[in-house]
Amino acid sequence: MVTYEQELIDAKRFIEQHDDFLVVAHVQPDGDAVSSTLAVGWLLSRLGKTFTMINEGPIPERMTYMEGASQILDMSMTDRTRTYSNVICVDCADYKRVGLVSEWIEEGNMLNIDHHPTNDRYGTQTLIKADAAATAEILYDLLTVFDVSWDRPVAEMLYTGILTDTGGFRYSSTSPKVMQIASHLLELGVNGPDLADSLLEQLTKPQFDVLTLALSTLEMSDDHQVAWVHVTPEHMIQTGASNEDLEGIVNYPRNIQGVEVGVLFKVINENAVKASMRSAGKVDVAAIAAGFGGGGHIRAAGCRLEGTLAEVTHLVIERIKQSL
Ligand code: 5GP
Ligand code: MN
Repeated sequence: MVTYEQELIDAKRFIEQHDDFLVVAHVQPDGDAVSSTLAVGWLLSRLGKTFTMINEGPIPERMTYMEGASQILDMSMTDRTRTYSNVICVDCADYKRVGLVSEWIEEGNMLNIDHHPTNDRYGTQTLIKADAAATAEILYDLLTVFDVSWDRPVAEMLYTGILTDTGGFRYSSTSPKVMQIASHLLELGVNGPDLADSLLEQLTKPQFDVLTLALSTLEMSDDHQVAWVHVTPEHMIQTGASNEDLEGIVNYPRNIQGVEVGVLFKVINENAVKASMRSAGKVDVAAIAAGFGGGGHIRAAGCRLEGTLAEVTHLVIERIKQSL
């Protein structure tokens, strides 16, 4: 087994030896996915490399303050003129997570930088730390190995990834090292309170409205250890909410005292449902999600299942009850 320290050196060599990169994070990118894409782009710029940053869809509006955010191509709005053989994937537990961006990728060299315990080690070079709080934490280490001079924009990127993936420095992944990194990033001029407010506190009106509807669908198991809510396409249309507006809803059922697992079921169409799961600690929801073809972390995981809302709800809730 290669150590993390060795993988950092190997990843550095990978980047030095190649050029003309495609940088991609997972579909429906969250704060860590966007900031990790941008931090890799920032590093490649510093090294004088050429690169293209891309995602399957748009970057959430509330993350566009980061330097370079407007340079991330929205694949759904871009005509493809070529493919790439040097690829850096960030925050993707498996290769499928890049989504349709795979159409831009040809056989070649791929660096897989990630912090999900369910990462299947795809790619020709891996840089994986399963207990890192965020992929941004790994990128902090990588930038340290490169010995580049830090600036405020890159500090803001890394802080954003760590802030969002730790739920505001609250999750168990918030190690002493995370706090040391955050301290350094704040010294570089990051405005912590402003970012916490805009990324973790503020709700758009559609987000508030869809939250209200979702909460009214609450159901609980007889022993009150499992609680779940759902969102339908009708809810989305009625409120004008987009996918990014659903982030955080799953915490509400999980936060009910005594609940071990909270779930949000998002109906995608008549025959597909996305399940987001959050655990209070007893249940490994990454294992449950992996069993359904998804993945994630022990306390936060997701998967997509075929079936109606009723069918998928039954399947997932029964599986969770079994593991309690
Ligand atoms: P969320 O429930 O917020 O979408 O995701 C929670 C965690 O599970 C995140 O770390 C996310 O990357 C992971 N995750 C969510 N959906 C999937 C999926 O379909 N496949 C995999 N491998 N991971 C997922
Ligand atoms: Mn992440």
